Amino acid sequence: MNKLQDKIAVITGGSSGIGFATAKRFVAEGAEVVITGRDEKALDAAVAQLESRATGIRGDVSSREHLELLFAQVRERFGRVDVLFANAGIAPFAPVEAVTEEQFDTLFDINVRGVFFTVQEALPLLSRGASVILTASVVAQSGFPGTSVYSATKAAVRSFGRTLAAELSPRGIRVNVVSPGLIETPFWGKVGLSKDDVAAFGEQVVRRTPLGRPGKPEEIAAAVAFLASDDANYFAGADVVADGGLIHV
Ligand code: NAD
Repeated sequence: MNKLQDKIAVITGGSSGIGFATAKRFVAEGAEVVITGRDEKALDAAVAQLESRATGIRGDVSSREHLELLFAQVRERFGRVDVLFANAGIAPFAPVEAVTEEQFDTLFDINVRGVFFTVQEALPLLSRGASVILTASVVAQSGFPGTSVYSATKAAVRSFGRTLAAELSPRGIRVNVVSPGLIETPFWGKVGLSKDDVAAFGEQVVRRTPLGRPGKPEEIAAAVAFLASDDANYFAGADVVADGGLIHV
C-alpha cells in the first residue's frame, strides 16, 4: 500500500465500474484523486464513498470545452497531474446492418476523440515521471459479433497507447494501455441488449475464458494501480491484458 502516496490522479469515468474501483484503490494507495463523469448524482455518490481525498468534476469527455474546464480546475487546485487514467467509454452494441450514423459518431466522439483530447488537455499539467493509462479492451484484438464500431474505437485507443508512448517518453511520461476482458460493471446494462442477450453473451465469453468467470472491477483497478506506480517504471506502450486468459490462451 501507499504506492501512490501524494500523487495527483485524474480518472475520467470515475463514478462507476472500473473507474470507480480504481479511484478507491488509488485513494487506498495514498493518492489525491479527481474523478469525472457525466451524471452529477452518480459523481456525488462516488465522491462520498472516497473519503476526503477525492474531488468530483462533472463533464463530458467528448466536449473540448468540458475538458478545458476540467484541467483548468485541476491546475488551480493541484497545479499538476501525476497519473491520468483516460477510462470513460460507452458501448452500444448492434449488428452491422443496424448501426446508425449517430451511434457511429457518438462512439467515436466519446471513446476515441474523448481519450485523445483528454490526454492533449492534460499534457501541460503532466509532471516528469507521470503515468498515463488508457482503457482499451480485448475486443481490439478479437472479433465479437455485434461490436464492430465499439471494437474499432478500442483498436484506436490501443494505437494511441503506442504512438503517445513514443512521443511522450522523451518527456519522462509513460503511456500504457489496460485491456479488460469481460468485467462485471454497470456497463453491461447500457450496451442496448436485453438482459437475456447480455446473459447469453456473457456465458459465451466465460466459456472461452480459461479462468472460467468474469472479472471484477477491482482486478482491473489493481492492474491500473501497478501501471500508475513506480513499480511499472519500465513499462511504456504496453497493453496489459486482464481477461482471465480469454485472448492469449
Ligand atoms: P461503466 O458504465 O460502469 O462506467 C463508465 C464510466 O464512464 C461512467 O463513470 C460514465 O459516467 C463515464 N462516461 C461515459 N461516457 C462519458 C462521457 N461522454 N464523458 C465522461 N464520462 C463518461 O463501465 P465500465 O465497465 O467501468 O467501463 C469503463 C471503461 O472500460 C470503458 O472505456 C469501457 O469501454 C471499458 N471496458 C469495459 C469492459 C467491461 O466488461 N465492463 C471490458 C473492456 C473495456
